[in-house]
Amino acid sequence: MKELLGGKGANLAEMNLIGIPVPPGFTITTEVCAEYYKHGREKVVELLKPEVEKAMRLVEEQTGRKFGDKSMPLLVSVRSGARASMPGMMDTILNLGMNDQAVEAVAKLSGNERFAWDSYRRFVQMYGDVVLDMKPQSKEDEDPFEEIIDHLKKEKGVANDTELTTDDLKELVARFKAAVKKSTGKDFPADPWEQLWGSVMAVFGSWMNARAILYRKLNNIPAEWGTAVNVQAMVFGNMGENSATGVAFSRDAATGENLFNGEYLVNAQGEDVVAGIRTPQQITLEGSKRWAKAQGVSEDDRVNKFPSLEERMPKAYKELFDIQKHLDTYFKDMQDLEFTVQDGKLWMLQCRSGKRTGAAMVKIAMDMLAEGLIDEKTAVLRCEPAKLDELLHPVFDKTAIANAKTVTKGLPASPGAATGPVVFFAEDAEKSKEKGQEAILVRIETSPEDLAGMNVAAGILTARGGMTSHAAVVARGMGKCCVSGAGEVEIDYKARTAKVAGHVIKEGDWISLNGSTGEVYLGKVETTAASLDGDFGKLMDLAGKYATMKVRANADTPTDAKNAFEFGAEGIGLCRTEHMFFEADRIMAVREMILADDEAGRRVALAKLLPIQRGDFEALFKIMNGYPVTVRLLDPPLHEFVPHGEKEQRELAKAMGVTFEKVQAKVESLSEVNPMLGHRGTRLGNTYPEITEMQTRAIIEAAMNVRKGGTPVHVEIMVPLVGNHKELRYQKTIIDETAGEVFAERNDRIDYLVGTMIEVPRAAVTADQIAEVADFFSFGTNDLTQMTLGFSRDDIGKFLPVYLEKGILKADPFQILDRNGVGQLIREAVFKGRGTKDHLKCGICGEHGGEPSSVEFCHFAGLNYVSCSPFRVPIARVAAAHAALSEE
Ligand code: PEP
Ligand code: MG
Repeated sequence: MKELLGGKGANLAEMNLIGIPVPPGFTITTEVCAEYYKHGREKVVELLKPEVEKAMRLVEEQTGRKFGDKSMPLLVSVRSGARASMPGMMDTILNLGMNDQAVEAVAKLSGNERFAWDSYRRFVQMYGDVVLDMKPQSKEDEDPFEEIIDHLKKEKGVANDTELTTDDLKELVARFKAAVKKSTGKDFPADPWEQLWGSVMAVFGSWMNARAILYRKLNNIPAEWGTAVNVQAMVFGNMGENSATGVAFSRDAATGENLFNGEYLVNAQGEDVVAGIRTPQQITLEGSKRWAKAQGVSEDDRVNKFPSLEERMPKAYKELFDIQKHLDTYFKDMQDLEFTVQDGKLWMLQCRSGKRTGAAMVKIAMDMLAEGLIDEKTAVLRCEPAKLDELLHPVFDKTAIANAKTVTKGLPASPGAATGPVVFFAEDAEKSKEKGQEAILVRIETSPEDLAGMNVAAGILTARGGMTSHAAVVARGMGKCCVSGAGEVEIDYKARTAKVAGHVIKEGDWISLNGSTGEVYLGKVETTAASLDGDFGKLMDLAGKYATMKVRANADTPTDAKNAFEFGAEGIGLCRTEHMFFEADRIMAVREMILADDEAGRRVALAKLLPIQRGDFEALFKIMNGYPVTVRLLDPPLHEFVPHGEKEQRELAKAMGVTFEKVQAKVESLSEVNPMLGHRGTRLGNTYPEITEMQTRAIIEAAMNVRKGGTPVHVEIMVPLVGNHKELRYQKTIIDETAGEVFAERNDRIDYLVGTMIEVPRAAVTADQIAEVADFFSFGTNDLTQMTLGFSRDDIGKFLPVYLEKGILKADPFQILDRNGVGQLIREAVFKGRGTKDHLKCGICGEHGGEPSSVEFCHFAGLNYVSCSPFRVPIARVAAAHAALSEE
């Protein structure tokens, strides 16, 4: 149903079917949106007219009102509703059907003239914005309608919209209409049908607005899907003190706690809550008490000024409570609900699976499993791999936070810790990120236009808005730290300053945010990695149970290996030995080896490196306790290890007892025009076999030493950058001979495998020959991508943005595996390799090994394991389980 009716339409229909009070209405399907883009507006209106008129008649029958009637007018809302939820990305129009006659009738019927005129002016405003495109011209400009309101308020000497009288609202409508006439050259349309078609078409049009396009890009939503349009009889939360509107969640979207929660406003319309213009009140008594405590509001004030819905409208609350429970159980997922109380009667306007933080995602899945609502497989599938990243996000360093100075407090809108320089505009957050510094985006309130900036900010602070404001909802979806509604912060966009508690924070000044408590700190507060709880462990166990691929880690140091092991890595898929070379105690020996004149000189230096490498490998073998450890032989071009500055070259000359000129000349001789295609990888081991000998000896001796201590070991030696099976044969001979020597010396032996990376396209297409020598393959998709696409790993940034923009590339191929190119080489290599050796073990160790969609590809390509950086191990484990479950 979602495909046709969109998420909102499908759920409204479903709620209606299970007896939940939903205002009558109808949905124009997503297929019509596609027609709109194919055939244009006129044709679609012509095709749709008879059906829409028929549907409207049904709504009229159910409501006892008539669309366009003078005495009993039917007012409707027109809302977008895509297949996947895109909160706030597209447009909504309320109170449609209003005109000079209808307003009088509404005034009479409701007995509330002010309400009628307020509804009218809201309609003109929304219609003007959405359908007639009357928006602010630049980012510093105010909304044209808000400007008119501000003028009138000044003229009348009042501060709040609520202080405007009925006559003032009439005046506003007149001024709004005049502004429309001035801007469009036409009168504001009074005919409800004209209003309706204008709005329906504007909703279709909003599918292609910049922010919707960006949202789809960020969330991988195809442009072909289109949006549905929901037309529904209006219900009013702003009909007086016995009316209200709100947003609620059946469970806590930030923590996952099974606790009904939400916010509401008395005498308000839906967009007042979401827009964050007034600070909303809590729905439940418990939530209200927690809120008051966090905000330092006394119990008296809470009860009198900010009572919960539970206290204020107990009957509607009870019904809402039962409905949320029903929907949570019915849909077997946390629900995000919109509701309105019209004169004491509760109406549900929307329900959908609620957006949530990574932590809430895991907790809700594990709780629902324990409650028996969902089974294990569903629980795993509910956990989006990429979102787990948030759980691994930083928190403040304990000592740093103890000394930090709190300047103000807002609402804890999205958990985590963030620190960075302040920017006031979303595009400045993007610029800052481009320069390598994530900024804190500070806004009065955010809007969907700010999405790109929010996405790259370290954190978000808003002066206005509650827990369901745009900033809060979007930040939680992104897993980004956010403090909203910090009302003491006075923001001046023109001066680019924020004033709070006597401090003036300028653009570029550092602040820090605690998205879990709402606290805002002056200056930089260091952050540390997050810790994980029992639910996370349960998820990892389930992922392990259902995944068929193993997950290993790329780990070079004992710290990496320990982290990886704790995250459940079942081995090391890549130890880049050279990463150990840079530490202070060894870089000298490495440089000596590189700068030596001949083999004898190299052997002297290598002898110094042998015990150091052996020690490193012993540590890794111990931590991995019998899981496979793949050690790769030296790979990078040697010039990466030598100093290029004169000062360091002089120091090196002194340490080696040679002249500066000699060092300088040697460094010069190592320089290559294209080092990534130069003297590196197996070419090093084949030109300087003594390097392979030393490394093999270090690996085998370390393994035998560790095994002697009672720890099982599983050794895999990997040769990099092979493109020709003979390169591997030469290396294998050296490895086997060296291992043989160690065995003879010790009168003992140990099993080991010799495999190769497949990272040169030629290796992939000659994999049948290579497999005759190799015990395993590991796809080095970083180099394989570089060489297959011919894109430099290091310089792609220069053209990638343009290629993405033009649609030449769908994604950065160094992040998301290029299935059609690189992927085909992987498939061919696996096929040919296994043609030679039936059960050839195949894995991946390029960066793609931790990226969910690439992990999925690896599963279907028949790989035995993926290997990725330690902090991506949990993500890869869940992605591997998803891939396996998707086959069932
Ligand atoms: C690769 O090329 O994918 C790989 C893992 O090796 P490196 O990144 O060290 O070149
Ligand atoms: Mg490589």
